[in-house]
Amino acid sequence: MTKPHDATARIHPQGDEGTAPAGRALRVVHEPGGIDLAAAEAAAGQFLDALGISTASESLRGTPGRMARAYAELFSPRPFDLTTFPNDEGYDELVLARRIPVRSVCEHHLLPFVGTAHVGYLPGARILGLSKLARVVEHFACRPQVQERLTKQVADWLQTHLEPKGVGVVIEAEHSCMTLRGVQATGSSTMTSTLLGLLRSDARSRSEFLALTGAAS
Ligand SMILES: [Zn+2]
Repeated sequence: MTKPHDATARIHPQGDEGTAPAGRALRVVHEPGGIDLAAAEAAAGQFLDALGISTASESLRGTPGRMARAYAELFSPRPFDLTTFPNDEGYDELVLARRIPVRSVCEHHLLPFVGTAHVGYLPGARILGLSKLARVVEHFACRPQVQERLTKQVADWLQTHLEPKGVGVVIEAEHSCMTLRGVQATGSSTMTSTLLGLLRSDARSRSEFLALTGAAS
């Protein structure tokens, strides 16, 4: 399978232990293949033309440009610093961010899918600024995706960069390619999960995580 938009995070270590003893930050930058807005606008105009949609009227004249900018925005996550802190208190219970908004675009139809993510981890030596769990989700959602891969990428990334004792990610989303076209399964949602480490292997941790995310039933 080809990966035309395999934008791997580039990690920039910031500061050092001498200047930033409390927190450690990794700069996470998305590197898309390069967005050519003018070319995208021209192509969008041709695309509409091929569908028999005239852009001659005043209200549609700017539509190809708006389409290009809208998709460019959907494929451009904001850079962020993954700030971690030493787990000085030895906190060893689940840390869980629930109902993180997810918006992405299915790579098969280029139609949006939207939903929520629950992301949790069992801390190891370091803990994470809580808002960063949402930023990791956004980072991987802002590209053509399939929900299964998005779920696994968020979990794998946290496992690699935070090195917790366990990671759990549950995503529930409604895919407009399912609800607006094809089977038109309005109201249906798709649930995916990835569990790593103790959240996978330890029955108590696993069931606690799944119960708190509502994914257990
Ligand atoms: Zn689709």
